[in-house]
This record gives sequence, C-alpha cells and structure tokens, in this order.
Amino acid sequence: MRDPNNPCIFCIIRKEELIFENKLAYASLDSYPVSKFHILIVPKRHVENYFQLSPEEINACNELIFKTKENILKKDSTVKALI
Ligand SMILES: [Zn+2]
Repeated sequence: MRDPNNPCIFCIIRKEELIFENKLAYASLDSYPVSKFHILIVPKRHVENYFQLSPEEINACNELIFKTKENILKKDSTVKALI
C-alpha cells in the first residue's frame, strides 16, 4: 500500500492552488475542501507537528493566516471566524 506521506503531499507546492506565500510558508486551496474558503497554511520545511516549527516559521504561518482571513473577508464579509 502506498504511503501518503512519502512523498509528503504538503511539501509539493501546487502552483495552481497557491494563494499566498512568503519565505517560510504558503497558503493554498485544499484539494478536497470541506467548506467554502477552506485554505491550508503550510510551512515550507517538513516537520512532523506544529511544535517542531521555529518561531520564525510560526510567525510566517501566522502572517499568512491573517492575510488569508482578510482576503476571505474581502470576498465575503459575512464569513465569521470560528474559535
Ligand atoms: Zn512535508
């Protein structure tokens, strides 16, 4: 059986799904969205979990989270952030 993590699907940036990127992370459409505006924020360095990210990588992801949120609200101001 094929291992879905080898090669890692998140380490391959699909240009056609790319929305934003910075030096350390990228934002892209999800291939299988579970809701409207379902976006993935992914660090460019492969790690097993969030806690292995450096502070700079966390900041890079956070920058894209805020940028993506603003972009979504420009498209549809009725979208609410879920906590
Ligand atoms: Zn990866």
